[in-house]
Amino acid sequence: MTYLAHLECSECGQTFNANVLHNLCPACNSPLWARYDLDRARRELDRDQFAARPNSLWAWYELLPIDHPAQRIDLGEGGTPLLRLDRIGEQLGTRELWIKDEGRNPTGSFKARGMATAVTRAKALGVKEFVVPTAGNAGGAAAAYAARAGMAIHVYMPKDAPAANINECRDVGADVHLIDGLINDAGRLAAADAREHGWFDLATLKEPYRVEGKKTMGYEIAQDFDWQLPDVIVYPTGGGTGLIGIWKAFDEMEALGWIDAKRPRMVAVQAEGCRPIVTAFEAQQAASELHQNAQTVAAGLRVPRPLGDRAILRALRESHGTALAVSDADIVATTQAVLRTEGVSMAFEGAATLVAVRHLIQSGWLRPDETIVCLNTGAGWKNPSGWKNPSRQ
Ligand SMILES: *Cc1c(COP(=O)(O)O)cnc(C)c1O
Ligand SMILES: [Zn+2]
Repeated sequence: MTYLAHLECSECGQTFNANVLHNLCPACNSPLWARYDLDRARRELDRDQFAARPNSLWAWYELLPIDHPAQRIDLGEGGTPLLRLDRIGEQLGTRELWIKDEGRNPTGSFKARGMATAVTRAKALGVKEFVVPTAGNAGGAAAAYAARAGMAIHVYMPKDAPAANINECRDVGADVHLIDGLINDAGRLAAADAREHGWFDLATLKEPYRVEGKKTMGYEIAQDFDWQLPDVIVYPTGGGTGLIGIWKAFDEMEALGWIDAKRPRMVAVQAEGCRPIVTAFEAQQAASELHQNAQTVAAGLRVPRPLGDRAILRALRESHGTALAVSDADIVATTQAVLRTEGVSMAFEGAATLVAVRHLIQSGWLRPDETIVCLNTGAGWKNPSGWKNPSRQ
């Protein structure tokens, strides 16, 4: 069924049993990765067999942490479309501009992918009740998957998180704690309550399996491009779990013999008001520092110091990628422009990637003939209202 073999620390390399619950590495407090027996999988799996399966995250079940199909907590996640943006591409000066439209996922964001696998695995390993600190969308997704799984959930989010997120958690019956602070403050309070009550902590990268769900974006991109990866992948980076996951998928697929060594350049896009990864990348540092007074209209990017900073920065460097920050005004204007020009509804976070593409074409970092895939990580209908609309000023 699954080729899951063990867990491995992302920093110190120590290995752990994957059949018991784990949070961070007990030796060095770093994220743990799920490792698979890829030698055996390489002999037994054929990449072309996956095309016949339904469009679903679970199509990749051999490479996911699931022992039996009946365990899956499934709301119809994954298998999202790639859309070519010809008119926007022409305006930006590029010919092969694509978005992967993750807004189609359950609860309107790609957080569904991570929660599908993490909640599935947590339930299989005996968890009954869990906590999630979130900037917004992860809470909504976790609440829905908890309901689907028949589990109890406590969500900790900033009190100024988007209304859509607070409401979706309450509507589905989650216990919602509104925090005077940001996701890192929510994370501290959630962890303390989890310890006190014996709840499992599903904070991103604090357990090994949300990244497994998000890595399926990498598998799907490879399959959609017929196993010839695009030149560039542009990712709106908050916690960075999706970027790390996509990069992990490429490592796995190369070990499986499904793709060659040629990799896309990975681009991390952040908001000017919260840019810890951009600052660390520019200073050529291995880790990030807390971004003080983080503020941006793109709530998913309001992560002042991501736990996976080292892994994000490694992927950017290894791929010869880059990191850049964009303004809230440009994000809002681009969201509007894409909706009007292409009819495509983008989360502010997703629209940030197109702002970045514009900057990178202008600077010459991107060439007009390169194939570019931007992740539209959420649906536009979840965007907070009340932001300044430049087109109506
Ligand atoms: C969480 C979120 C992000 C950031 O994702 P990470 O993988 O944590 O970097 C981007 N966009 C949206 C819509 C999100 O909800
Ligand atoms: Zn370790």
